[in-house]
Amino acid sequence: MLHLDGRGYAFHQTRCPTCQIFLNLDSIMTEACYRCLGCQDSGLYCKNCMLLRHSQLPFHHIQEWKNNFFQPVTLQSLGLVLQLGHPSGEACYCASTSPVTMLVALDCSGVHKLNVRYCACQKR
Ligand SMILES: [Zn+2]
Ligand SMILES: [Zn+2]
Ligand SMILES: [Zn+2]
Repeated sequence: MLHLDGRGYAFHQTRCPTCQIFLNLDSIMTEACYRCLGCQDSGLYCKNCMLLRHSQLPFHHIQEWKNNFFQPVTLQSLGLVLQLGHPSGEACYCASTSPVTMLVALDCSGVHKLNVRYCACQKR
């Protein structure tokens, strides 16, 4: 086992800044960690917090720390579902019953697959 490889202990003991959970940088901790290339804040976050931060930003490019380097993953593959019909951060009351639809969207950075859930809440 080589412990002193120049990266220092702090590099391994990284916590998600939002929920303080330990992130997996050396395959000992349990949480995988992710960073976003689209956000100003390029910090490392756990999957849950990354999905929360991107509930309304489905086109950002995410990378997962895996096998000692960052690999591109999509928000969709992490389980992001874009909730339509509600303001950011508000849960849909009928989320468990309304179906998830996959859309293919195009923007300047390429083709994106996107899971969306339409709101089926009763409008008052
Ligand atoms: Zn977190
Ligand atoms: Zn982002
Ligand atoms: Zn709704």
